[in-house]
Amino acid sequence: MPTYRAPRGTRDLLPAERPAWRHVADVARSLAHVYGYREIETPLFEQVDVFERGVGAVTDIVEKELFRLQPRTEDGETWALRPEGTAGVVRAYVQHGMQTWPQPVKLWLLGPMFRYDRPQAGRYREFWQWDVEAIGDAGPAVDAEIVELGLRFYDQAGLDDVEVLLNSIGDPACRPAYIERLVAFYRDHADVLPPAERHRLDANPLRLLDSKDPGMAAINATAPRLVDHLCEACATHFTEVQEHLDALGVPYRIEPGLVRGLDYYTRTAFEYYRRGREGQQQALGGGGRYDGLVELLGGKHTPGIGFALGLDRVILALEETGAEVPTESPPIAVVVGADPGATAERLRVATDLRAEGLNVRADLGVRKLGRQLESAAREGARFAIILGDELSEGNVQVRDLEAASQKVVAIDDLPALLSRKSQGG
Ligand code: AMP
Repeated sequence: MPTYRAPRGTRDLLPAERPAWRHVADVARSLAHVYGYREIETPLFEQVDVFERGVGAVTDIVEKELFRLQPRTEDGETWALRPEGTAGVVRAYVQHGMQTWPQPVKLWLLGPMFRYDRPQAGRYREFWQWDVEAIGDAGPAVDAEIVELGLRFYDQAGLDDVEVLLNSIGDPACRPAYIERLVAFYRDHADVLPPAERHRLDANPLRLLDSKDPGMAAINATAPRLVDHLCEACATHFTEVQEHLDALGVPYRIEPGLVRGLDYYTRTAFEYYRRGREGQQQALGGGGRYDGLVELLGGKHTPGIGFALGLDRVILALEETGAEVPTESPPIAVVVGADPGATAERLRVATDLRAEGLNVRADLGVRKLGRQLESAAREGARFAIILGDELSEGNVQVRDLEAASQKVVAIDDLPALLSRKSQGG
């Protein structure tokens, strides 16, 4: 047992896993570009207030899961690691006066998030999200654009069974009356409410709707539904979002119980699941509209919408479905030599080839040629470049480790030969 291990709920992403991650990140990056979103990076920690206000003080994320940093005296600020991306992006929007930029401001970021959650499969304390935000557009068209972008991401990443669940959670005009109705409903059922849920009833009654407690399913099945109590403006907005999705030919399922855990959401809310996996609280990603958030963080009233897609769960799903993902590519060639001690020579030949952009390893071990060749084959290299007596005439032996054939090649011809072979020629 090693003395030190990665903290519980975190993990090392080892070299063999990285190509799949890079593939997923590349899909995100290229789609962001195609859809006109610009990259932003925000600090991994912010003032606690940004999350308490921006995410909501009475949410699991802030109440239980925030990684608060030791208090520091500087400016009397206390900080926390970011549990999600939106609050920091919106803080940056306000701080940098982005309301004077052409609207909407379309931003994306990809990076680690931190939540002090109980670790389990697909739930980590450090995990990665691709975050996309369109700030300054009240929709409904941009809502559909974002929902569709998420689906396209999953498709291009290699998951073909992802569907989107859609709901509207109203706005400050219609939600309070609905919440009163909902609280009255739960009070009527107080005797069967699990104790933890009773506590939430006063603090954040909407959360009871997406409770993970199995005892809540039967109660929630008969609870009043927000979609039936939307004000006219929210109802129209919701209808128009659906019309835009229909116009794009994007399938979606309306899920009246979908409320999302964060306080700042208004109107459109959505979550992505693999088909048939909705019950497991294992959303692949989710998002929604947050028309009050910019104001909450000190800006002027500005609508916004975004999503956060969890990349860890995409990677897990790709593994589970056996989807084809890129793997590590071995060097195209390893430079080996008949003289075990001639490491400088092997290094020089490899260095010249690397200067041409070729992935070439030099065998720097002082060992016999046979051992060097074995190691090159084990590594999966296509060629061994063997330095021997021919070197004085500017030639080397090139052994094709797959075809087990060997020929003499002028050292000057190596870059062209290897780049052709690297490209599958
Ligand atoms: P949320 O902001 O909670 O809606 O999260 C958006 C997405 O991030 C989820 O759908 C998950 O895919 C992912 N996610 C959230 N929390 C975790 C976690 N603790 N571990 C891994 N992925 C997570």
